[in-house]
Amino acid sequence: MKVARVATDAALGRTFDYEVPEAFAARVQPGTLVRISFGNRELDGFVMELSDATAYAGTLKPILGVADGEPLVSPALLRLAKWMAAYYLAPLERCLKFMFPPDVRGGVLSDGFKRQLTVRAAPAQGRLLEPAPKDREVLERLGDGTELLAGFCRAWHFSAARLRRMARDGLVVIEEKIARRNPLAGRTILRTSPLPLTEEQRTALELIRGELAHCAALHPDGTAASPAPKPVLLHGVTASGKTEVFLQAIAEVLSKGGGAIVLVPEISLTPQTIRRFVSRFGDTVAVLHSNLSTGERHDEWQRIRSGEARVAVGPRSALFAPVARLGLIVVDEEQEFSYKQEDSPPRYQGRDVAVMRAHLEGCAIVLASATPSLESWHNAQTGKYLLSTLRHRAAAQEMPHTVLADMRAETARAGGRRPLFSDVLIQEIHRCLDAGEQVMLFLNRRGYAPTISCPACGYTETCENCSVSMTYHRDDQVLRCHLCGAYRPKPKVCPQCGSDQYRESGFGTQRVETIAQRLFPSARIERMDLDVTTRKASHEEILGRFRAGQTDILIGTQMIAKGLDFPNVTLAGILNADISLSVPDFRASERTFQLIAQMAGRVGRGVKPGTVIVQTATPEAPAIELARTENFVAFAQEELQQRAALHYPPYTHFICVTFKGEDAEQTRQYAEAFAKVIGPGGDAFVVGEPGPASIEKAKGLYLYQMTLRGESPRLLLTRLRTAMAACPVPHGLSVAIDVDALTVP
Ligand code: ADP
Ligand code: ZN
Ligand code: ZN
Repeated sequence: MKVARVATDAALGRTFDYEVPEAFAARVQPGTLVRISFGNRELDGFVMELSDATAYAGTLKPILGVADGEPLVSPALLRLAKWMAAYYLAPLERCLKFMFPPDVRGGVLSDGFKRQLTVRAAPAQGRLLEPAPKDREVLERLGDGTELLAGFCRAWHFSAARLRRMARDGLVVIEEKIARRNPLAGRTILRTSPLPLTEEQRTALELIRGELAHCAALHPDGTAASPAPKPVLLHGVTASGKTEVFLQAIAEVLSKGGGAIVLVPEISLTPQTIRRFVSRFGDTVAVLHSNLSTGERHDEWQRIRSGEARVAVGPRSALFAPVARLGLIVVDEEQEFSYKQEDSPPRYQGRDVAVMRAHLEGCAIVLASATPSLESWHNAQTGKYLLSTLRHRAAAQEMPHTVLADMRAETARAGGRRPLFSDVLIQEIHRCLDAGEQVMLFLNRRGYAPTISCPACGYTETCENCSVSMTYHRDDQVLRCHLCGAYRPKPKVCPQCGSDQYRESGFGTQRVETIAQRLFPSARIERMDLDVTTRKASHEEILGRFRAGQTDILIGTQMIAKGLDFPNVTLAGILNADISLSVPDFRASERTFQLIAQMAGRVGRGVKPGTVIVQTATPEAPAIELARTENFVAFAQEELQQRAALHYPPYTHFICVTFKGEDAEQTRQYAEAFAKVIGPGGDAFVVGEPGPASIEKAKGLYLYQMTLRGESPRLLLTRLRTAMAACPVPHGLSVAIDVDALTVP
């Protein structure tokens, strides 16, 4: 008897055995979607494995139906899902969910395509009847074309019944066609050709081509050189032409009949970025970003699966695109935190899963960045990855000039209150505006003021659900919690003492806008942050106005720090670099370095050189001083020494376990019991005692956490599995395990 192990959504984390009836035997493979009866329901499930025997004592139920066509999930992707489930301690079904869009999952019976009826005139020789005058009008309107039935009837005021009757009479042909929902519909994109490469770019491309020669999918006749390709870290300063290098590597993959996946951080997946790929490769590009409607996503996915599209571009989850004969994966801006899924299991690191997919499929992978993650850098240093470096900007633009504004001196000059704008920044902005150039100002805090308090009694407005202060939003005169979204009107008087003298302290982007408008009254200023871009198009509109030169100064949060390419921007100001440096996180330096380098990447991209001004009270911090000279290598060396000494990644795997509960005491007790099972790490790993999280309460729940770090993930995962089995999670409590955590909540 043939037995299929089937996983379903109805029971996470386990599989059930079903008999494979003779009639289905040829079509049921691992990865096939099947219909099963489960309890008293019928469900869809995935075949994980086939076997000849079962451990189940009773009589197995048979599989009831099988989806048509190839298995939805290829064997390689199925293996990838299993690896993710084991490594990230997540239910397998949750991992499988990434492998296809929800509509495809629609079931065995429905494939999620949008079908439309079309109509065209039947060939004249086959007609049995002479058309009536009104029918003749229909045929004239149709001419030689094929029209959508509904649209055609609406446009010319014909009834659908008439056309159906005409179809019966053999005058027209009505057919069902699959309609593609195209996310790029209505955009004209001109084709571009590969640029002649610089010396450095050519060396980089050669290195990647060398790895493509090891790629099995590109040499199906078995001529691929062994061993398997090694990952390539493409380290190039901003605007050094990394994108051009991997575009040409992709062209090579396509010329050999292969396909490619390009991961781009969600935030940089702008129309501008998409245009760069489509202009080079045309319709063979499928875009998978999260703004797509489910229908569009389904159709793009199907275009990849059918081989019509061979280059998949998208954020994190595009790494699971069903590209056949996968030759190359590119992870652009590989250091980006957004590649990590944090909020729900599997809490996976997209970059690392991409490396694993490349490994499982024997394809090449390129990780590109101006400021690689220390994990990837370390791998390149130890020879696990190959390293290629671009030291110069491609179009020979000058590297930007970075100036540190010492805010200690500015504060003293301003009589003890830290000003928002340093003198040097004000001067530079004036110079820029006079020259007709553009400015970007970065502050990673939205709202008007991050705290508001009463000077008379010290009362501070905090959120009722979270242990954080409420941010004052002047646009709509409310206090807002950035953690849970709660808001309330700003009180007229202090709720504690009745004083009407509220004090706003600190700066958010709204306040920057107000002050900038006062300092530069004739400048045209716009702000871009989460508060103004909640409408779908406004992000694009704001950038469009900036590109068209209708805005002089663009103020924003990290939305403006990444990937934007505006040649007329010659000045970038980081208003407070100390915010990111003071985050209680061992990666604070790394993030600060990245931020400064990213802002440097925004300026001087055209013919005019650029300047970056970094306002900081700690100009001597290595992250800031070395970022000033864009000396990544020195920074990495310094930072790696510290990480090694303290047993932090990349020398260890860092795991954060967060316990959330309605009751603080119960949560604490559970966390301690859990930690007891984990036990001391001895020489093998370091255990951080469980304690309240830095934000003790969020969204009404109390947060406790513990951290683990050690060299052997296997050992850590085993301990965690043991603890999970030994400590059943009580009602009202939840445990989140984040393997290779990037942020500690
Ligand atoms: P990166 O990905 O490293 O930030 P890009 O590939 O975006 O760099 O290139 C930066 C700019 O330089 C772009 O405007 C690009 O068109 C241009 N560029 C890239 N390679 C070349 C080249 N070989 N010759 C001329 N211009 C180039
Ligand atoms: Zn008060
Ligand atoms: Zn809150």
